[in-house]
Amino acid sequence: MQTMRAMLFEAPGQLLRLAELPIPQPGPGKVLLKVHACGVCHTDLHIVDGELSEPKLPLVLGHQIVGTVVQAGTGAKRFQTGVRVGVPWLGATDGTCRYCKRGQENLCDHPTFTGYNVDGGFAEYSVADERFCFPLPAAFTDVGAAPLLCAGLIGYRAYRMAGENVKTLGIYGFGAAAHIITQVAKHQGKKVYAFTRPSDTAAQEFALRQGADWAGDSTQAPPENLDAALIFAPVGALVVAALKATNKGGVVVCGGIHMSDIPAFPYNLLWEERIIRSVANLTRRDGEEFLDLAPQVPIRTDVTAFPLEQTGEVLEQLRSGQFVGAAVITIISV
Ligand SMILES: [Zn+2]
Ligand SMILES: [Zn+2]
Repeated sequence: MQTMRAMLFEAPGQLLRLAELPIPQPGPGKVLLKVHACGVCHTDLHIVDGELSEPKLPLVLGHQIVGTVVQAGTGAKRFQTGVRVGVPWLGATDGTCRYCKRGQENLCDHPTFTGYNVDGGFAEYSVADERFCFPLPAAFTDVGAAPLLCAGLIGYRAYRMAGENVKTLGIYGFGAAAHIITQVAKHQGKKVYAFTRPSDTAAQEFALRQGADWAGDSTQAPPENLDAALIFAPVGALVVAALKATNKGGVVVCGGIHMSDIPAFPYNLLWEERIIRSVANLTRRDGEEFLDLAPQVPIRTDVTAFPLEQTGEVLEQLRSGQFVGAAVITIISV
């Protein structure tokens, strides 16, 4: 039996552990990928901490996978061997529920999430449903492309939900998603105001380097009111801060899968047709649209790469906000 190195998650609260696992076999409609790189996401931290409470166990985390197809299961004909693809959080849907039928597959009643219900990409090999893989633009390196697959893609869905007429955009929480979406928003002629944890000057300088027009603490008011705000930090109090900073009819979009409670706030902050909404997962259409747009901007991801065995430490660094930009695990095959 051939084996591979993988980072294994066995129970909430436990550290990830480097393990030797059998190389998985692709079932019908699936492809086996040799993993080159896999991005680290805040959602991984929510799984490790037990805030997303129903993972398959034991589990290989990781849902921003860049790899090449090395083997196809029965009936899988979409990709030739050797083609590079990306695998996102949405690993499969039932295709039959009311949400799938009306073009909202992101809300599917029976979804499969990569690195949550099935093993993901913090391993030398991974299996994916070929229908949910994306061909990747050649302009991006493996490491450069990985953050596009969740930070970029779900960030883009959140950005789209802000609406067409946005001229001033606030972004709360300046990590992987924010640095990508700032570039898209600037490309489309918008003003971007970036908010970070109080006195996180490194993140504020990073935001300005990505093209933000202003960067400050989340407790500060922006230089002008916002037409929309995107919240990428899992902090409920930011919803209230963002509402205070928005114009009439403004939209506050919560981009994360988990958030601390939103404090009570006076109705007048919501009055005048302000909207609070969340964004859940992604559709394949979001992915196709965003990966088409990425090389046109062109998006330049700011990535710090780490070896596989450091995945656990990287998650802790993400928790404490120790690095700016995106973290990606590079997989060195044996
Ligand atoms: Zn993610
Ligand atoms: Zn469905």
